[in-house]
Amino acid sequence: MQQLFQNAQIAQPDGSLQAVDILVDAGIIQQLIPAGSFPAAAGVVPVDLGGQFVMPGGIDGHVHFDDPGFTDREDFGTGTMSAAAGGVTTIVDMPCTSLPPVTTPDNFMVKMRAISPKAYVDYALWGGTTPTFIDSGAYKRLLPELKQLGVVGIKVYTTSGMLTYPRLDTRQMVMAFECARANDLLVAVHAEDHFLATYYTEKILHEGRTDPLAYKDGRTYDAEPLAISTVLALARRENTRIHIVHVSTAAGARLIAQAKAEGMDATAETCPHYLLLNRDDFVRLGSLVKCTPPLRDRSDNDALWAGVMDGTIDYIATDHAPGIYPVEKVMDNIWRAYAGMPGVQSRVPLMLHEAYFVRGVNLYRFGELMSTNPAKRLGLFPRKGVLAAGSDADFTCIDLNGSTTIRTEQLYTMNKYTPFEGRELRGEIRKTFVRGNQVYDSSGLFPMGPGYGSFVKAG
Ligand SMILES: [Zn+2]
Repeated sequence: MQQLFQNAQIAQPDGSLQAVDILVDAGIIQQLIPAGSFPAAAGVVPVDLGGQFVMPGGIDGHVHFDDPGFTDREDFGTGTMSAAAGGVTTIVDMPCTSLPPVTTPDNFMVKMRAISPKAYVDYALWGGTTPTFIDSGAYKRLLPELKQLGVVGIKVYTTSGMLTYPRLDTRQMVMAFECARANDLLVAVHAEDHFLATYYTEKILHEGRTDPLAYKDGRTYDAEPLAISTVLALARRENTRIHIVHVSTAAGARLIAQAKAEGMDATAETCPHYLLLNRDDFVRLGSLVKCTPPLRDRSDNDALWAGVMDGTIDYIATDHAPGIYPVEKVMDNIWRAYAGMPGVQSRVPLMLHEAYFVRGVNLYRFGELMSTNPAKRLGLFPRKGVLAAGSDADFTCIDLNGSTTIRTEQLYTMNKYTPFEGRELRGEIRKTFVRGNQVYDSSGLFPMGPGYGSFVKAG
C-alpha cells in the first residue's frame, strides 16, 4: 500500500521547519517532497498530518520491560503501549531484568516468544553475559551467537543487586571486552564502583540511617567516576566500543569528554531524571524516586545539561524500570524500596519542553538526541532514526502549540507513578506511526493493537 503523509513539518539541520509530504510504500519512506507538490495518484492513500512537527520516531535505548519473569513490574504490552503514547517507535530492552536473562540463544528465543505477541511498537534487544559464562569460557561461543541473532550489544555491570545477573569483576570484564572487540559488539556498562559503594553503604547502615539521603550517601558520588575511569581504561586497552549508561555525575561526564577528546570510541547516555531532579527532589519524594545511580546535586544537573549541549552526552534514554506500586515503592525505610521508575512515556514530552522550549536546543538536534543518535550507536540506523528514503516510516507527530500536563492516571505503564506528576509542558504528542501505521492517537487509541511491533535486528 502506498500512502502520502501530507503537510508534515520536518526539522532541518539549522533547526528551521520545512513543510513536506512523505511518500510511503509498504511502511518504508520512498520520498520526501515539498508539501503539495505530489500529483494526485490513484491508489495512494492520503494521510493529513495537519502541519504538525514530525520527527523521526523516538528511540529509547534503555528500558527494562521485565518480560518474562517480573511482569508484576512491567510487561511488554504495557511497556510498549506507554512507549507509543510517549512518541517512542522503537525501544531497546535490557537483558537482565527478565527471566531467563538474554545471555544465550535459547534464552533469547524464550524472550522473543514471550514478547512478540504483546508489542505495540518495534523493539530491539541488548544481550549480555554473566560471571559464570565468563569463568566457564562459554561466553566465547555465546557472544558471537547473540551477535548473529541481532542484539544491539552486551550490557555488563560493575555493581549489581540482581541475583540472576551479577556484576563482572575487572578480570571478567577484560575478557568480555576482548570477546566483544573480536565480534564487533558494543559494550554498555552500568558504572558504579562496587567496593566503594558497598563500603559506604554498610557504614551508613551501621549508623542506622534509613532516610533517602542515606541511600544517596551510601552509593557515594565517587563510585561513578571511579568505575567509569576503570571501564574506559579497559576499553582503551582492548580497543572496545564502549557505551556508559545513565551517567549521573559531573565527574563522570568529564571523564567521557576526555575519552572522546582522545578519539576513543566511547559514548554516553543520561536520563531525564538526572537532568531534571536532584537531592531536593529525593528529600521531597523519598522512595518514589529511588534509582541507581541515585539522584545527585543541582551542579550535576547543570553539568549533564552542558554535556547534552556539547555532545559529551550522545543521547537521552530513560532506564524505565518501574517497581510494584505501592508495595515496592512507597516506604519509610529507603533501603527496602525498589530502585527504579517508569519513564518511557514522559521522555519526549519532558525533553521537548526542557531542551527545546526552555534551553533552545534546535528541533533537529532534538531529533538526534531522541532518535538518530541512539539508532546510530545501536546499529539500527538508517532503518530507524531518520526521515529519509529507504527508512522505516516511523513518525512522532507533535503539536508545538499544544500542551501536556503529566498525570499519573494517563500513564499506560504497569505500575503508575512518576516524579513529574503535575508538570506542565509545552507541546503535545498527537500521533505515533510505526512503519506507516498509526500505533497511537492522543485521544487514547492504539489502532494497531498488540503484536504489531516487530523485532529490529541490529546490523
Ligand atoms: Zn537500567
